[in-house]
Amino acid sequence: MSYVSELVLRDPAVARARDALARGESLTQEDSVRLFDAPLLELGRLAGAFARDRHGDRVYFTVNRQLNPTNVCVLSCKFCDYAKRPDDPTAYTMGEREIKAHVDPEIHEIHIVGGLHNKWRFENYLDVIRWVKEVKPDLKVKAFTAVEIDFFCRLTKHDATWVLERLREVGLDALPGGGAEVFSERVRRELFHQKIGARRWLEIHEIAHRMGIPSNCTLLYGHIETRAERVQHLILLRELEARAPGFYAFIPLAFQPGTTGLVRRQASAIEDLRTIAVSRLVFDNVPHVKSYWVMLGQDTAAAAIHFGASDLDGTIGVEKIAHAALARSPVGMAEEAMVHTIREAGKIPVQRDALYGVVKEYQVEDCTLVQ
Ligand code: SF4
Repeated sequence: MSYVSELVLRDPAVARARDALARGESLTQEDSVRLFDAPLLELGRLAGAFARDRHGDRVYFTVNRQLNPTNVCVLSCKFCDYAKRPDDPTAYTMGEREIKAHVDPEIHEIHIVGGLHNKWRFENYLDVIRWVKEVKPDLKVKAFTAVEIDFFCRLTKHDATWVLERLREVGLDALPGGGAEVFSERVRRELFHQKIGARRWLEIHEIAHRMGIPSNCTLLYGHIETRAERVQHLILLRELEARAPGFYAFIPLAFQPGTTGLVRRQASAIEDLRTIAVSRLVFDNVPHVKSYWVMLGQDTAAAAIHFGASDLDGTIGVEKIAHAALARSPVGMAEEAMVHTIREAGKIPVQRDALYGVVKEYQVEDCTLVQ
């Protein structure tokens, strides 16, 4: 028996999804799109039961830092408030000392992403990982999106296998999931026509998985995409995981309108919770769906624990990308606050590293209440 199969549901669309999942069948595009209109709490109960069948009451997080070595970027994606031209007064490029200062002794993961610098060579990006590893050799390094990997291929005139091998030699452990945006040619033409599309993003992650390099994956939602395009995106990721397993987590990223002018306001908390729940049910072969508090805000991220999310990402330290787009969440969250948020949701906090190795499972006495 499982939590999913025991669930009593009233809504026919959610009940149909429950029956399919209980039989071990993946949801179709049509049934998945219909779930977006289902009653929210029914949807949440099913997604929560689905996550519980996989992880029990455990909810994961990591004590980590985000390192964004430069915001100089040769591209200019319409939705991006982070990237700057080289001559912009707010453009920055970190040196060795600044990069090493990001490696706090207590962290178990570093997440490195940034712009496609007009002057940097591949060696400069390799140096970033080398410097991090010099400070903390056992630190798990999650670095460079598929967009950056493709950029390195063009810089070096080598293929992705060669580039990933060089990165692994200096200490790369996993790839982050960014740069996927929405796997829709229509949206790509409109918002990020210079950047790689679905085919190349999926190809790079498939190569990484086949080399034994795990990764995450994302969806940027809440701008000009349709719900059908969100579902199509999830199904393409599900198909990749089926043929070349290696994803740890799927992270729905709520678009931060910032100063882009693309939409007037961020998706509502209701839409965020629906997207997390539908993602959990459609992308049935990914281990975790993350509730990324930086973009959702702490309250919605905490509520998402009951809508299928089984990971809260990390403490992060100083986050630059979403905050360049005026995200209202704090720039970092303390370990105690993470533990408290998960406990308050009635779950068991588990601290992990970038590869989901368990660092610590918290007992009741470990929970320091944060006011
Ligand atoms: S989204 Fe990435 S590739 Fe596009 S402009 Fe911003 S930093 Fe550059």
